[in-house]
Amino acid sequence: MSPTVLISGAGIAGPVLAYWLSRHGFTPTVVERAPGVRHTGGHAVDLGGVSTEVIERMGLLPAVRAARVRRDTLLFHRADRPPLAMPRLSDLVTDRHVEIQRDDLIAILHEATREQTEYVFGETITAVHEHDDGVTVTFADAPARDFDLLVGADGLHSGVRRMVFGPEQRFRHDLGGYLAVFSYPNELGLDRQILGHLDVDRAAFTYAVDDGARARTLLLFRHPAGAGGHTDDLRDPGQRTRLLRDAFGESGWHLPRLLAHADGADDLYVDSISQIRMDTWSRGRVTLVGDAGYSPGPAVGGGTALAVLGGYVLAHELALAGGDHHTAFRGYEQVMREPVARGRRVGPDTLRQLVPGTRFAARTTPHLMRLFTRLPRRAARTLAALQRGDTRTLDDFSSTKQPGSS
Ligand SMILES: Cc1cc2nc3c(=O)[nH]c(=O)nc-3n(C[C@H](O)[C@H](O)[C@H](O)COP(=O)(O)OP(=O)(O)OC[C@H]3O[C@@H](n4cnc5c(N)ncnc54)[C@H](O)[C@@H]3O)c2cc1C
Repeated sequence: MSPTVLISGAGIAGPVLAYWLSRHGFTPTVVERAPGVRHTGGHAVDLGGVSTEVIERMGLLPAVRAARVRRDTLLFHRADRPPLAMPRLSDLVTDRHVEIQRDDLIAILHEATREQTEYVFGETITAVHEHDDGVTVTFADAPARDFDLLVGADGLHSGVRRMVFGPEQRFRHDLGGYLAVFSYPNELGLDRQILGHLDVDRAAFTYAVDDGARARTLLLFRHPAGAGGHTDDLRDPGQRTRLLRDAFGESGWHLPRLLAHADGADDLYVDSISQIRMDTWSRGRVTLVGDAGYSPGPAVGGGTALAVLGGYVLAHELALAGGDHHTAFRGYEQVMREPVARGRRVGPDTLRQLVPGTRFAARTTPHLMRLFTRLPRRAARTLAALQRGDTRTLDDFSSTKQPGSS
């Protein structure tokens, strides 16, 4: 019988893992808290480098490219002067970069996996009991079931991590920033441009989605009362909108209008920008993949690319080890250590760059970004490649290729 693997979470990492597990002869089941594919939240995310190669090897690159976000210009607001326009930075620095709405990517991944994978929506795991032959999992509504392995792909606030490794506070490191995302009717008439506004300790961006029918706002900010973990309070909707008003209440630009929409938005998302740092993300027959194990911080550290790579590598290592989970989890952690560390390093820097800490930085950041976009395309790519320092392909992300492996 092929080994059975229960995956908690049908976001990005979960379906990628399910795809590759089926390809390698395992039987995956995915349990997802949300009632359906389109209910887990949207925002623009990035694929690039080896994560694009994973998508390509799944045969999904044409579908992902067709759904990619097409935006030409970022227009930075300036007081008393016309906006400062710049072409898209990411297109200049890499050929393989794809920006796509998270919900579109999830829908594509679900479509590609649903025939070989049992999906159970609207369900959560309530208890995990590991024994010699497998893991017995108890669900909120469905009867308990046995699986050979359990993988937590259930995001930054992973329930599997809490049940198997301990409370979130032990592993969560807040980077001192917050983010909010919500949709609203496209009353600014946005088309293929992003409007941006930078101020001390806050940044706001807004852009069209759903073919221009709606628009979405992304707010990044530092807490007005200083650093501190407030994630737990953010479950309260009143607390979420209060935090936004404290941070942006005094702002000009389109912000009063945008904030008025945050109150009634059915998809308002507010969270701290936090990393998950664990010494190991495997225990017995259970492991974690994507944000659950190693979130580099939403919106700042390339979490989507890590989630895609993590799903691929975990399945690959399980196949290499013939299903021996001890060996496979060791290989998986060995291979992922470096990309995870890299994401962790860039997160705080990106947050500092995106959310200026001083009035001077708020004024100069758009100009610095524009200088970069004015470099000839080839020079910009070379500079970006030097900064990334990475020329590896997906075949290098295997325990058989890692230093020290036999
Ligand atoms: C506003 C925002 C902007 C972002 N921008 C970017 C970006 O520009 N570039 C980038 O690379 N990344 C970005 N990210 C991060 C990116 O979304 C994540 O890193 C990526 O989605 C991680 O994938 P994942 O599968 O590990 O987790 P997720 O995508 O979070 O998926 C987890 C899934 O688990 C489900 N779930 C949660 N709890 C349970 C439970 N108890 N039981 C069952 N299911 C559960 C959730 O509903 C969800 O479907 C952003 C994130 C946010 C929030």
